[in-house]
Amino acid sequence: MIVMKFGGTSVQDASAMREVAALARAAADRAPLIVLSATARTTDALFEAATRAEQGDLAGALELHAALLDRHRGIAQDLLPAGVPASLQAALDDLGRELDLLLRGVALLRELSPRSMDAIASLGERLSTRIFAAFAGAAWVDARTVLHTDAVFGCARPLPDLEARCAELLAPQLGPGRIVVTQGYIGATPQGLTTTLGRGGSDFSAALFGAALGAEDIQIWTDVEGVLTADPRIVTAAQPIAELGFAEAAELAAFGAKVLHPATIQPAVEKGIPVTVRHARRPQGRFTTITAEVRTGRPVTALAHRGPVSVLTVASARMLNQSGFLAKLFDVFARHKVSVDLISTAEVSVSLTVEGDAPLGPLVADLETFATVGIATGRAIVAVVGERLKHTAGITGLAFGALRDVNVEMISMGANEINLSIVVRQEDAKEAVKRLHGALIEGGLA
Ligand code: ASP
Ligand code: MG
Repeated sequence: MIVMKFGGTSVQDASAMREVAALARAAADRAPLIVLSATARTTDALFEAATRAEQGDLAGALELHAALLDRHRGIAQDLLPAGVPASLQAALDDLGRELDLLLRGVALLRELSPRSMDAIASLGERLSTRIFAAFAGAAWVDARTVLHTDAVFGCARPLPDLEARCAELLAPQLGPGRIVVTQGYIGATPQGLTTTLGRGGSDFSAALFGAALGAEDIQIWTDVEGVLTADPRIVTAAQPIAELGFAEAAELAAFGAKVLHPATIQPAVEKGIPVTVRHARRPQGRFTTITAEVRTGRPVTALAHRGPVSVLTVASARMLNQSGFLAKLFDVFARHKVSVDLISTAEVSVSLTVEGDAPLGPLVADLETFATVGIATGRAIVAVVGERLKHTAGITGLAFGALRDVNVEMISMGANEINLSIVVRQEDAKEAVKRLHGALIEGGLA
């Protein structure tokens, strides 16, 4: 079997849904499990409606509710011009009523817990999959019956029984010539409380189902031809990467590439299942295959950047020859729950980067009890990622040649040696990405 996941823009309207159905039918002999997101902007609208209800603006919340239901009914009518079947009509009515009740409850209490938010957010995927199932003649599975999770609402994680539940509840429905559809993003506790995996969680759902079912391939259908060598809004010459290593994909995601949710990759890696990223409107076009190991010889695969970050330089005269300094240092970060991204150490100082919005006041005060601290804000990390980076001489030379007149403030080679990170001023980040792309990727090196 295969998993085919389609994001919000791939199911945004009737014409997009028709294409998804066509792709599903074309793959029907591979026993596809279709995992759908909510239609574009729906989850945002649900969050907005819930927030309005919490603020006591029930009328405003219900206005959004009406618009949302109308839009979905419109898509259903468009797809099924001969008449929306009574069963779909009833399903949409039920979902509409449920959303209405939830919003009224939130408005009455003026309280929006993560648990209530998940119940509300789940409506998006439940609407899109109902419509798709009716149109495509697919079997509809409620993901909440299969994907049992912990009770961490808003960021739930699967329980270990997923494989068994998939074998029992999903596998028997799958088969050549059949199309089965379920929701991304949502699950439920074993007690039946609706949970979500976090925003953008449909990719993770696809990987979880694919891994649990032993899929041949997990296809992430989106609106780009795979993962690109750089952000195309910055680098016009950015190209789709044919083959990407799991480790590379994880690094790129962590450093700001927008294509895949980093945690998505994990369940598939563990099973050695390839994940492909494809363009739903250009199914014959190029795409990226993400596998455990890359076989190509290129040293630099792609660039990503992320910011703002702040650089903290922590110095202590007594650091010299003093064991336990780093332990003491990281203990302070742990106590203040501030996570550190890059680290580079010198004899008497340590530089590290933290998110630009990390609360630094009390943390710095604690550090200053045993060290002096310098803070540079408004910085960005530019990451050069490539599985063969460590085996290729001269990359750093080329990189710094390209960045000659850019002020590089910190450099760090990732411990897995596939990521060379460079810290620059935020306003220099785009230029740095362009230059590095020119020198390391367009330059024929790749
Ligand atoms: N619909 C959810 C969201 O917008 C999940 C997803 O699209 O992956 O966050
Ligand atoms: Mg999405």
